[in-house]
Amino acid sequence: MTCITFLRKSNFPKNLKHDIMSFDPASNIQHLKQFGEFGDVNPSITDSSTYTFLKAGDMEETFLGHTEGCFLYSRHWNPTNKYLADALAAMEDTESAWITASGMAAITCALLQLCSSGDHIITSVTTYGGTYAFLKNYLPKFNIEVSFVDITNLKQVENAIKPNTKVIYTESVTNPLLQVSDIPKLSEIAHNNHALLMVDNTFTPMIMSPARLGADIVVYSMTKFINGKNDCVAGAICGSRQFIDDLSNVNDGTAMLLGPVLDPLRSSSILKNLHTLHLRIRQHSKNAMFLASELSKAGLKLSYPGLENHPQHQLHKQIMNEEFGFGGMIAIDFGTVAIANQVMQKMQQADVGYLAVSLGYFKTLFSCSGKSTSSEIPDSVQQDMGLSQGLVRFSVGIDNNIEVSLKAILEICREEGIIG
Ligand SMILES: *Cc1c(COP(=O)(O)O)cnc(C)c1O
Repeated sequence: MTCITFLRKSNFPKNLKHDIMSFDPASNIQHLKQFGEFGDVNPSITDSSTYTFLKAGDMEETFLGHTEGCFLYSRHWNPTNKYLADALAAMEDTESAWITASGMAAITCALLQLCSSGDHIITSVTTYGGTYAFLKNYLPKFNIEVSFVDITNLKQVENAIKPNTKVIYTESVTNPLLQVSDIPKLSEIAHNNHALLMVDNTFTPMIMSPARLGADIVVYSMTKFINGKNDCVAGAICGSRQFIDDLSNVNDGTAMLLGPVLDPLRSSSILKNLHTLHLRIRQHSKNAMFLASELSKAGLKLSYPGLENHPQHQLHKQIMNEEFGFGGMIAIDFGTVAIANQVMQKMQQADVGYLAVSLGYFKTLFSCSGKSTSSEIPDSVQQDMGLSQGLVRFSVGIDNNIEVSLKAILEICREEGIIG
């Protein structure tokens, strides 16, 4: 090949360590050999939209998708995005991945790649609000039919199957109710019916490995835990080499043609943050477990998959990669919007964290889901799915002194007469 490749990987001995251990997403990233152009320990940032070829014929071959290590145009592939994509594929144990400019771009491109007019999707009714709005309000424009089900009720999922069902869609741990999806069983149902299982793993990177549990496609909002800094919006699609090649096909690939590619400068900074994800996730999980158990003992009504009383606690335990805990998300029901708002304002004043949407940040973030990130879901549907108006979604931070937050929350709840 006459184009300039950048891989130094082959000059290093293959690391044996991760071959003999059980699946470990963090080590799979750690042992990647990714270098910059000059042997830089961080891969180079490719600050170019287009690439030169030494031979005209290679350009043609690259258009046809027949070359390895050649780049054409950065909407198609960018070397910096490729480094991050390779790291995500290593984390998920998928053959390939593609980097998008947002989580919604990942979800919408992957679904539009799989479904044509006349097809049918089954989805969990509790999903991220933007996903719900896309499925409910946008896909009907293309005559794609969507059934909304309680994803924890496998009978309901099976009953929703139709001859034209192409995709079962869910989140590993759903937003904001924190229901846990039985990925192995859902995969079985999908595959028995010639459909694919797509899983949004945004809440539980490293904790769950959906592709290893049977999911065909794993999507992420990297805006959240993966990047963990709330300094950008980004997403990813992980799947088979064939699927990712199809997505980026110059003739009919949804990602290539709709063009939601991430800027390589951002890709590079996300890749560096990905390398500390395992440490952050452990601390998020540790702090969330502490807060959830103490607040629950104090009498607050809350949902956390790490507590024995969570309806899918056993399932979560069965399918998780153990050492990363049960995640950083807690849902606390304060009953009414008025009380929830009062508590959130006081928590912000007491420096528990910020009253803000989003999650996976190093500081604790909280928002009232029904009135914010799930406001796309009509009130009646919110009620049916069990989303209380006073539900506050907590993304617990990586604080080194989480006991201080606990004390402040308890004091505020006593002041408000929520607990005795
Ligand atoms: C935030 C979020 C999304 C959307 O991601 P963006 O990066 O904001 O486009 C999708 N799914 C889940 C579970 C999310 O939390």
